[in-house]
Amino acid sequence: MRYIEPHAHMVSRVTDDYVALSLAGCRAICEPAFWAGFDRGSAEGFRDYFRQITEYEPKRAAKFCLKHFTWLCINPKESEDMGLADDVLALIPEFLAKPTVLGIGEIGLNKNSRNELAILEKHIQLAEDHEQLILVHTPHLEDKLKGTRLIVDALRNHSKIDPGRVIIDHVEEHTATLVLEQGFWAGMTLYPESKVTPHRAIDMLELYGHERIWMNSACDWGVSDPLAVPKAALEMRRRGYDADFIDKIVYRNPAQFLGQSPRFVL
Ligand SMILES: [Zn+2]
Repeated sequence: MRYIEPHAHMVSRVTDDYVALSLAGCRAICEPAFWAGFDRGSAEGFRDYFRQITEYEPKRAAKFCLKHFTWLCINPKESEDMGLADDVLALIPEFLAKPTVLGIGEIGLNKNSRNELAILEKHIQLAEDHEQLILVHTPHLEDKLKGTRLIVDALRNHSKIDPGRVIIDHVEEHTATLVLEQGFWAGMTLYPESKVTPHRAIDMLELYGHERIWMNSACDWGVSDPLAVPKAALEMRRRGYDADFIDKIVYRNPAQFLGQSPRFVL
């Protein structure tokens, strides 16, 4: 089986995880910039992080025949400090020239605060100005529906942003329709403790169709499973889906979205 892991935070993972991903049939990993498990103290901390995900991680992945791509932003959690956020936003254009950068992400909202919304707006403008793809993080649990609505509205306010070039990630049953009906792509995150399980993700495919949708593990510094996508593929086989359908969900769909960037070459 071949597949793409379209959302993983490999800076938080050990090298053995790269080995496991490669053995499971992974061809490419995409790493959105995100919270690192702690608040960084300055924009220089982000410069080092951007260097790590644009220079070092692609080399670490290549040792195991894996392509590594990345997305850049300051995440919503640290965007609460708007001075820091502005300093980080100013850093991003120079890194957009790096050969493995796919776009702006994962931007979005965490607590749906006013400051987070202001910085989300600046990121959308940055993506528009530089014609970049966008990857969006949606808030957790009780904040998710409201946050997803705010994000969709913010994106729709930019008439030049094509929804087909935006993926809204961590959708659940109550937000998938909202995202897909507006023409955006939807990401389902397979987490052991929250977000969606493989069973729920497959149920969602049956409910909402299999176009403009992908699955990811979003593995990071917390309780998460780098092999969540191939495990979901195994569950799809158990339920009787054929190999071509599974290939579409775990390989061709992410390749179609990510391939809108000329940098995404496998
Ligand atoms: Zn993430």
